Amino acid sequence: MNALAPCVAPDGTAAAPIAGTTILRERGQREVFCGLTGIIWLHRKIQDAFFLVVGSRTCAHLLQSAAGVMVFAEPRFATAIIEERDLAGMADCNDELDRVVDRLLLRRPDIKLLFLVGSCPSEVIKLDLARAAQRLSVEHVGRTRVLHYSGSGIETTFTEGEDACLAALAPELAATAPDAALELMIVGALPDVVEDQFLRLFAQMGIATVRSFPARRAGTMPPVGPNTRFLLAQPFLGETARALADRGAVRLDALFPFGAEGTSDWLHAAARAFGIDEMHFRSVIAPGRERAQRAIAHAREQLAGKSIFFLPDSQLELPLARFLARELGMTPLEVGTPYLHRAHMAAELALLPAATVISEGQDVDRQLDRVRAARPDLTVCGLGLANPLEAEGLTTKWAIELVFSPIHGFDQAGDLADLFARPLRRRDVLKV
Ligand code: SF4
Repeated sequence: MNALAPCVAPDGTAAAPIAGTTILRERGQREVFCGLTGIIWLHRKIQDAFFLVVGSRTCAHLLQSAAGVMVFAEPRFATAIIEERDLAGMADCNDELDRVVDRLLLRRPDIKLLFLVGSCPSEVIKLDLARAAQRLSVEHVGRTRVLHYSGSGIETTFTEGEDACLAALAPELAATAPDAALELMIVGALPDVVEDQFLRLFAQMGIATVRSFPARRAGTMPPVGPNTRFLLAQPFLGETARALADRGAVRLDALFPFGAEGTSDWLHAAARAFGIDEMHFRSVIAPGRERAQRAIAHAREQLAGKSIFFLPDSQLELPLARFLARELGMTPLEVGTPYLHRAHMAAELALLPAATVISEGQDVDRQLDRVRAARPDLTVCGLGLANPLEAEGLTTKWAIELVFSPIHGFDQAGDLADLFARPLRRRDVLKV
């Protein structure tokens, strides 16, 4: 599940300046999950969708072990295994794929949206999933829509799977009426409870139409058009944002909704775009903002003055580093991100301490050398790196937990802060 990114510089690194910040760009070996992992949260979000990975036993094992036990009566994802004879070109994979899909949809008429998800093996044998999706959509028209995207480790890292999925869905959304009033779209899969909190706040502000993308059911996906204003809830949705912009929608620039400050700014961007009175906006968010500030105060005692190093993993790193620096008093030494979307991250970058090193991409050995030299109080990294670093006496936090936990919004700010405070508490307890 690791992949080698193409080398763009002979020494694997290059420094690029951006708006006064120096970005270290690395193109060496990286240690990140592939985009298939997005299925783990997407299959919970879109309740009548099914994700059919066209891949190997390795892909099936990744999904099965990462997703754990599926809590639904019927599975919402599976892997169509490409066998050796397929790889050797001895079988017609398209015929086999059609047979698998026909069998699946015959048995499961409840599936309204089927994603064919590409993997490393399907890319290696150049299986054309775009054509397969078109062919199968025609065959199952009126019952199930069939789309495709790639989750392969050659093309995607971890959270890019969600981006690829939503970018595939965006051109399929219905068009809004030409004379429709402004509508707000929240973009990015959020836990239902968090999404409901945001919807309540927007309703209290007086924004009449607010839709979520993805919706919880295939039949209620939001329409899109020039009257759509959208807020990215996740920082890893660059392709999705581009696909929505192609449909005429306009992105509202804001911090990402982590912590009291980020959540306030995110909500404020919508309030401004929809002409909400400033005093009314402030009165609506005041209770939540205060709850968030109170909830993080406890963790602040533990985290203030501590240094933190983010290895690139989920693309959540920059907004989280901003939250930790500004609301918890931490010092981000280096913040790594697999990809840096300059425009979407501009507001976040502007709020990071000037001395913070920003790195894009990865050359894992070089980066580990920098971790060892800096000896941060806390290192946020993937599962595979955490144990070796712990063995060297460094305290670590699994980046994956930040993706699987509800961390957005006012009411999750305390839990988010605590996710970082917990490893330090554990270290202190073990020292005694
Ligand atoms: S898509 Fe590639 S990287 Fe991901 S599990 Fe399958 S083989 Fe591994």
